[in-house]
Amino acid sequence: MPASNVTVVTHPLVQHKLTLMRDVGTPSATFRALLREIGLLLTYEICRDLETELAEIKTPLEPFMAPRLAGRKLCFVSILRAGNGLVDGMLDLVPSARVGHIGLYRDPNSLRPVEYYLKLPDRIHERLCICADPMLATGNSAVAAVHRLKEAGAKRIKFVCLLAAPEGIENFAAAHPDVPILTASIDRGLNDHAYIVPGLGDAGDRIYGTT
Ligand code: URA
Repeated sequence: MPASNVTVVTHPLVQHKLTLMRDVGTPSATFRALLREIGLLLTYEICRDLETELAEIKTPLEPFMAPRLAGRKLCFVSILRAGNGLVDGMLDLVPSARVGHIGLYRDPNSLRPVEYYLKLPDRIHERLCICADPMLATGNSAVAAVHRLKEAGAKRIKFVCLLAAPEGIENFAAAHPDVPILTASIDRGLNDHAYIVPGLGDAGDRIYGTT
């Protein structure tokens, strides 16, 4: 039973693209393109409750009070390196968003995240921050990334991923109950190497064709 702050996007197009991504035979270029497309579609969902305000414009026919996004530009935050694959699609939908990067690698022994890079846009406290990592596995990286965003002053944060393991959701929700999660699937669990199963393998390797 997923925590109440998790939304699974069950849209058939998202699920179809995700199935293609899971397939071990899908080449890197296709995998990358699909991740980008799903990144766009997930962002469409996660932005559903953005505030709008009325602005006075003129159509070719008459003046009109029309809705536009209110507030500061969004901030997308990529958890390197796989987060970049998702953020590319997010930027396709919201090209004016600011982008931050958090570099975390998973220590192979402790499985704990170690930070090696951090660069965030200004006025982060005034922006909705959408933090992205395709895989919410143990949740340790996501928990650490969102801690850093909060330390930097972020007040409104959402987390978007492609696949989530129940263990990762539980860990994340315990640390950040105020941060909603949006995902395309909640998979069965983690294997002994903390990979999501059935999953899709190592997202970074599949995006960039490394092993
Ligand atoms: N990171 C990945 O890329 N894949 C997993 O299954 C878990 C973490």
